[in-house]
Amino acid sequence: MSEATSTIFERIISRDIPADVVFENDRIIAFRDIAPQAPLHLLVVPKTAEYANVAELAAGDPALLAEVVATAEQLASEHSNGEYRLVFNSGESAGQTVFHVHAHVLSGSLNESPLA
Ligand code: AMP
Repeated sequence: MSEATSTIFERIISRDIPADVVFENDRIIAFRDIAPQAPLHLLVVPKTAEYANVAELAAGDPALLAEVVATAEQLASEHSNGEYRLVFNSGESAGQTVFHVHAHVLSGSLNESPLA
């Protein structure tokens, strides 16, 4: 993908810019959100830039989506109490700002959230 169209997550994956990485394998990276909305707020990101949102990922590589979910579960146990909210924003009006599919893993004291 060209520099002009690459997202900030590709620059994190390629280590062009730093992030607080908590997990990485050959297909997925996870790091702390720079603007946390919960005591634990991680982003679980497939390394491929092929999919802009969760529906595209589900259609194109369901096994990778399952791996994203399993990684979220594992990280919520390692970094919090194992209970979490998994959020995929899809589309600008739904709050998506980075068009490279990613799961938000939110855990700890979510009772104040408007969605609770
Ligand atoms: P979304 O709005 O669902 O597309 O989520 C994008 C998320 O990426 C937001 O929660 C941002 O706070 C987060 N974010 C943006 N830039 C960075 C960065 N450099 N490091 C970590 N998280 C970031």
